Amino acid sequence: MPEYSTKQRALLLDFLSTHADETFCVDSICSQLGSQGVSKSAVYRNLAALEAQGKVQRLTKGGSRRAYYRYKAASECTGHLHLSCEKCGKTYHMPLGATNRLIDNVKQNSDFEIDRTETVLYGVCSNCRK
Ligand SMILES: [Zn+2]
Ligand SMILES: [Zn+2]
Repeated sequence: MPEYSTKQRALLLDFLSTHADETFCVDSICSQLGSQGVSKSAVYRNLAALEAQGKVQRLTKGGSRRAYYRYKAASECTGHLHLSCEKCGKTYHMPLGATNRLIDNVKQNSDFEIDRTETVLYGVCSNCRK
């Protein structure tokens, strides 16, 4: 891989990991990284590669085709569910106990097993309801 594109990927991963609790659409990533010489096509290409490596998660919000991305910490974010605030874009980590209770409830009442690594619940966080 050419050094140039490795550097763009590192910048992108760096940006996402320092804002690990937020989600970004491609446009906002481009406006943050554009000044560092990262092109839009490089952002698309690298996001796809990072998604394939399991380093970022791709999200789509209710009905819209627009994709959002967030950094996926490799180890600590596997067991619990994530809550995404539609107002501020922050991601909250549901405690494991609460995750297990919710998953058990759905399983008992609906005979459905939630995929805890892929599921994101959307709503409004307490800060944004104040
Ligand atoms: Zn988490
Ligand atoms: Zn919020």
